[in-house]
Amino acid sequence: MNKKFANVVFPISVDKEFQYEIPESIGYSIEVGMRVSVPFGRRKSIGYVVSLTDKPVYKNLKSISRLLDNFAVFDESMLELTKWISRYYFCSWGMVLETALPPGMKKEVISRKKRRIVSIAKPQEEICSDIDSKKIKSAKQIKVLKTLLSAKGLCMECKALCNIAGVTEAVVKSLKRKEYVVLNHEILYRDPFAKENVMNTQHLSLTSEQGRVFNKVISSIKKGRFNTFLLHGITGSGKTEIYLQAIDFCIKNKKQAIMLVPEISLASQIIQIFKSRFGDRVAVLHSRLSKGERYDEWEKIKKGKVDIVVGARSAIFAPFTNPGLIIVDESHEPAYKQGETPRYNGRDVAIMRGKLANITVLLGTATPSLETYYNIEVGKYELIELKERIDKRKLPDVRIVDMQDRSVRLPESQVFSRPLLLAIKDKLLKKEQIILFLNRRGFSTFIMCYKCGYVARCPECNVALVYHSQQDKVRCHYCNFEDKPPSICPDCQAFYVKYGGYGTEKIEEEISNLFPDAKYQRMDTDTTTRKNSHQRILKGFKHHEFDILIGTQMIAKGLDFPRVTLVGVISADTSLYFPDFRSGERTFQLLTQIAGRSGRGTAPGEVIVQTYNPKHYSIIASSTYNYNDFYKKEMLFRKSLNYPPFRHIVLITVKGHDSAKVIRVSNGLAFLLKKELGGQDCKLLGPAPAPMAKIKNQYRWHILIKHKMPGKINVFIERSMKGLKNSKLQMGKTNIIVDIDPMNTL
Ligand code: ADP
Ligand code: ZN
Repeated sequence: MNKKFANVVFPISVDKEFQYEIPESIGYSIEVGMRVSVPFGRRKSIGYVVSLTDKPVYKNLKSISRLLDNFAVFDESMLELTKWISRYYFCSWGMVLETALPPGMKKEVISRKKRRIVSIAKPQEEICSDIDSKKIKSAKQIKVLKTLLSAKGLCMECKALCNIAGVTEAVVKSLKRKEYVVLNHEILYRDPFAKENVMNTQHLSLTSEQGRVFNKVISSIKKGRFNTFLLHGITGSGKTEIYLQAIDFCIKNKKQAIMLVPEISLASQIIQIFKSRFGDRVAVLHSRLSKGERYDEWEKIKKGKVDIVVGARSAIFAPFTNPGLIIVDESHEPAYKQGETPRYNGRDVAIMRGKLANITVLLGTATPSLETYYNIEVGKYELIELKERIDKRKLPDVRIVDMQDRSVRLPESQVFSRPLLLAIKDKLLKKEQIILFLNRRGFSTFIMCYKCGYVARCPECNVALVYHSQQDKVRCHYCNFEDKPPSICPDCQAFYVKYGGYGTEKIEEEISNLFPDAKYQRMDTDTTTRKNSHQRILKGFKHHEFDILIGTQMIAKGLDFPRVTLVGVISADTSLYFPDFRSGERTFQLLTQIAGRSGRGTAPGEVIVQTYNPKHYSIIASSTYNYNDFYKKEMLFRKSLNYPPFRHIVLITVKGHDSAKVIRVSNGLAFLLKKELGGQDCKLLGPAPAPMAKIKNQYRWHILIKHKMPGKINVFIERSMKGLKNSKLQMGKTNIIVDIDPMNTL
């Protein structure tokens, strides 16, 4: 029996199902999970069929116009997962479904690259006799037919054929009319890796420590059971090899595997490794691919042409039918959280997908987030550890340099202390490589008048403008506003304008002055805007085309360069002073990760950390590689302020151009929330201006809820939002953003 009506959702902010009648013409082909084109308002829109029914909600429903694909883009399990996301993260199901598809599918027709193939359509003897009997006279047509007859498989790509035969396409077309040849369209998969030549690599034989970990993981895969492992392995302990072999085991057992990586800069190295081990069994999904490439990769997964996918957060939606393993590498990374609606965390969705479909989930990291480690304590995850580096290599010695100590300062440098400068000199002499890390781009980080205290700020965001020496411009790092740098103070007209603070460009300048013979490269958001710039810089460094890599957090993670023996952290304080409750955790993670880049080869490595806070536990614990010590101290702090993992948090941002309205809406919403949440075990902070009180000319206020009801808090927020809508409050163009489990509270 086919059903008469379909419930459809749309990628709009309203979370609602709309019902349509199914016209007879498609009654037999429509399935749950399909994309459809339907009249919506005054336009045609793309919707997703989430269920079929025989019971209409109204009379006179509109009809579905047509099916957009001849297959369901979502299966039941993906519908279940996306529905969970929509509930948990407080956003519409349709928006989650749209996010789960490659961006090319936002349009009705998907652009494909196609080749036209010309092939012979009559028996060879008939063609030859037609030529001999002069039934075909045109010399050009004869040339085409002879070329085709001598081609492999009696067919050729149309353009190539015309080139070889020296004819235009019109000649081929006239042969087609006479039915000597046929033209077929064949989809050409764009291969993002066509230009790379990847070497083949083999399994390494696992160390005994790796072997123990590996066995635990594969026995869980074998059982086809949901199980979340935390692989806590120090940097250089060989986590990647375990991933590779576990995946290999998984696909040999006819199951598929998903590997998530936090950022593309990291992905490039990992992708190389995966391609070299698994060849074209691997699909790749991330935002640096073109829309067409992403669609092609998605289709390869959907059609079962591959059984491994490596990708950024959205790869968790890979349409595999029988996944056996999901790996989340660098699982502590905030980059797994999406910064726009739906604001999901790829790591947590991975665990939910595992739970819904009985998949083994492996979280890998050297620096687990507090939330993850706490889940070990309460018995939700299973801890597996790698405590040694491969070949028993030592972790590099970390030296903390106290920048308050005048004796380490140098007259010739604003950036380098004496110990760091000496170490650089030494490594350059030994022809070893160096990484210099500073989590701030640009040249100077603020411009100030030393007479009146004026600071150049972005007119839209009110944050200090950063000077970029290469373009000789000041720029806002939040909205990209640009301006010429002031030479006199715009407030008091004095000539005392000074550049304060420093970023990666300043390091670059000092290196070129202090070590004119050294070769260096800078890697940050400003130098990596082009498509393959990451890979180019990293490849150059790998081949020792330059000695010093200068960069932001982009270079902190995952890189494996055996000739790097010195890592210099120019300032550990940038992340420590961040006005966010996770600043201590971020600092510990960044310092541990960046230190792990040193001494990965045979020569021992060292790390020098410059800071004004040499006594801070994040800095001390990272310098001694003592995760447990850090965890204990940080947990005390989290507990005292009821932050995660002791409570969950929800951050509500109210923003708009009219400051008075923003305040009124914030107050109104907070009032309603307090009423709804009364009697629950939770705390509401605010409303208060956000730390970033104005971005792109929009005022921003925050309400923060600390609660113990993950998955249920939405009910209360929803009721309050409804209450706000029904009240007489003038909202105007004020926006309310609800961020569940936020990773950043600015
Ligand atoms: P992690 O990701 O834990 O920081 P990696 O996976 O990058 O560490 O491994 C560090 C280095 O050790 C890599 O160069 C890797 O090829 C090598 N390695 C890993 N496992 C083995 C092994 N079993 N035998 C020899 N070398 C290994
Ligand atoms: Zn700005």
